[in-house]
Parts: sequence; C-alpha cells; structure tokens
Amino acid sequence: MLLCFPVLGMGHLTPFLRLAVTLDAHGCMVSFRPTVSLAESSHLNHFLSTHPRIQSLEFHILPLELDPATANSHPALCSPSLSPPLSSLVIDILLADAVAPVAANLSLPNYILFTSSAKMLALVAHFPTIADTSSRIPKSWIPPPLFNPAHLFTTLIKANGGALIHSKGILINTFESLERESLSVLNNGTVVSGLPPVLAIGPLEPYEYKNGPWLAWLDAQPEESVVYVSFGSRTALPKEQIKELGTGLERSGYKFLWVLKGMKVDTEDEEELVDLVDHGFLERVKDKGVVIKDWVDQTEILAHKVIGGFVSHCGWNSVTEAAYQGVPILAWPQYGDQKINAEVVKWGWGGEELVSGDEIGMRIGELMENNQLKRQARHLRGEARKAVGSGGNSDQLLTAAIMHMCEKT
Ligand code: UDP
Ligand code: UDP
Repeated sequence: MLLCFPVLGMGHLTPFLRLAVTLDAHGCMVSFRPTVSLAESSHLNHFLSTHPRIQSLEFHILPLELDPATANSHPALCSPSLSPPLSSLVIDILLADAVAPVAANLSLPNYILFTSSAKMLALVAHFPTIADTSSRIPKSWIPPPLFNPAHLFTTLIKANGGALIHSKGILINTFESLERESLSVLNNGTVVSGLPPVLAIGPLEPYEYKNGPWLAWLDAQPEESVVYVSFGSRTALPKEQIKELGTGLERSGYKFLWVLKGMKVDTEDEEELVDLVDHGFLERVKDKGVVIKDWVDQTEILAHKVIGGFVSHCGWNSVTEAAYQGVPILAWPQYGDQKINAEVVKWGWGGEELVSGDEIGMRIGELMENNQLKRQARHLRGEARKAVGSGGNSDQLLTAAIMHMCEKT
C-alpha cells in the first residue's frame, strides 16, 4: 500500500488526488492522510466517496519538526492496522525534512510529489547550497521572504530543499515540452549534484468535471469570447486593486467570469460581494459578466470552449490546467512561487504595484486578440495531451515509477 501525505491547501491536495486516481487505475492501493480545513475535508470526502478503493487513514499528523529518535515509535507509520503493509510514501515537499528520517528508519522508499514548477524546484534544490541568494537565479524571481533568513518560508525551503536528496524520486506536475530546460538541468546535476531522478509526470489530469450554476451562462456565449479571472484558492488582491481590476474588465469590453476572493483563506471569507465591488459595478456589468465569490470548478470553466483567456495568479495548478486546456494566460503573480511559475508563461505583470484599470483593460484586449499566443496555447495543449497520453513522456515516466512505488512487499 502506498501512503500519500499532502499538506494543507487545495493547491497541494488537488495534484495528490489526481495522482491517486492514476495510481488506483494501475492497481495500486492508495491511502490518504486526511487534511484539516473544511473546504479540503469536504473536497476529500467527496473524492473518497467517488473513488471507493482509495482510503483515508486516521492517524496523527507528523509534526514538522520530528525528533528522529522517536521516529520508530511514531504512530503515523507504525500503526498495526496498516494492511497490506506500506510499499512507499508519496509526500509533499514541505514534509521532506520531517519524513526523511522516519522513512529511512523503516526502510520505506520515499517519493516527493512536487506541486509547483520545475523552475521552482530548481530554486528549492539550489537554495540550501548558496549563501548569497542572488548568485545564479535572477533576483526578481526569488520570493522576497527568502532574503530574510529568519522567515518561516526560508527555513522551510532550506530544510526541505536539503532533504530532497534523501528521497527516492521527485515526481513533478509538469511536462517535458513546457519546462525542458529546467528539467534537464535538474537531472544532469547542474542545479545540485546527488538529486534523485526528477520525473515530469504532468500535467496531472482532472478526474471530474462538475457542472456549476454558471454553465448556462457560459453555454450562451460565443466561442473564445470570455475572459476567466481567478487568483486561486488563497490569494486575495488588495481592495484598491480589486476596484481597478473591475474597471479594467469593464473597459476591456470583453465578457468575463471573475472569481473574486476578499480574504487570503477561502474558507473564512465572510465578506459580501458588494463589500468588494460596489453595487453600481455589479449592476453595470450584469449583461457582461459573472462575478462569483464561491468555490468554482475551475476545471470545467477552463475546459469550456467559450473561454478565450485566463487572467491568473500563476499558482502552478492553474498554469498546468490552462496548458492542458489550451487557454492563453495573462500572468499576474502575487507571491510565493507564483513569480517563478509566471516565468514559464512569460506574459504579464510583476505583482507589487497597483495596476490601473486602463492598463488592465488594454492587456486583456491584447490577451484576447493575440493570435500567436492562441497558437502557442493550442500547441501546448497538444503537447500536454501527448505527454500524458498512452506512451507519451509523462505517461512512460509515471508508469515506470508506479512499478517501483507499488511493489508488493
Ligand atoms: N480552484 C478551483 N476553484 C476555485 C479556486 C481554485 O477549482 O474557486 C482550484 C484550481 O483549479 C487549482 C487549485 O484550486 O487546481 C488552486 O491551485 P493553484 O496552484 O492554482 O493556486 P493556489 O490556490 O495554490 O494559490
Ligand atoms: N511551495 C514550494 N513548493 C511547492 C509548493 C509550495 O516551494 O511545491 C512554497 C510556495 O511558494 C509557498 C510556500 O511554499 O509560498 C508555502 O506554502 P503554501 O502552502 O502557503 O503555498 P501555496 O499553496 O500558495 O503554494
């Protein structure tokens, strides 16, 4: 049996669930450590109810700083109820440092599922070995907290980046033709020597398309005529920027579907739409667009033929989902790994400064009219499908990895 350890956050849970579906299809037994937040546990419960062979195991969550001396007796991995016995672990990068000694103690192969870009992995792998973070990676890509050695993000990246070498393999949700160069330098020892194989197994495919209430509205629009705007599950724009974005959408003249979050964490967002954008706006755009404050099924939206462009914060799942559906992205990264991910897309803004409604409107126009970008996105869609299709690059790497991971013990 294979045990999956995602960390908190839909951006981490989703790729794990997608991987689990493929593992299950290959006859692997998969279990999950349940996650905690409400949005995630309801998502996970729904997933488990529709994938009855995949289980959820109740056990203590590994503390981030686990004492290796007590690892042997840790209830998480030594529960006598584990039957069949574990064959491997698949863990999030943010648990690499905590899990490595436990896995070693139990002689369990430990795989990492890296949920961000290969470019970000290069930074994470490289980071612990450099004192001066500006050495080989352009400063502008580096998440600002990394310049502060005391920041939690810095300590996490240092510890977990350093622990990468203790894993058996790094599965990554990207594909060869999207990130050829980064994958190559990761695998040929240029970034850091001694890394385990970095296996591009993406883009991990969606396993279901749910019909949301906006489907009828989408169905009524002309092909490639709608801009989709979303900043993922946990990024809220500053209020002022939300206003400008509203203005920009209005000025662009395009129809839009805008998923709007007022607070950083989706589950505790109590604000009403009208607190974020004014009544006048909602009234003025009611024939032009849909503004949603709830959780949407992004997969369904991106797959819809009327979506012609995506204004995105460049969370890596969003980038790979757009690539899979062939939707051009206007990149607007905010924090964390998003700026590095946006470099893969190379089209958009930097993030810190207020962008005016006029500029947004203009850039949306460019996004929607740019035929070269459309061709590129369509090409990428073809490449993505080829990669995960039978015999494609990603499919081959994943199939081989599964053979090792699910070996019966
Ligand atoms: N997502 C969704 N509906 C929402 C917001 C997000 O389905 O209303 C999904 C999105 O498709 C993606 C994930 O949640 O799979 C967000 O991950 P991403 O890496 O894009 O960004 P994060 O939320 O981690 O910043
Ligand atoms: N992060 C990372 N690798 C990953 C996922 C996340 O380095 O595979 C970074 C990311 O940049 C983020 C930080 O870890 O800023 C903290 O994780 P969090 O769960 O807040 O990030 P997110 O879900 O937004 O990626």
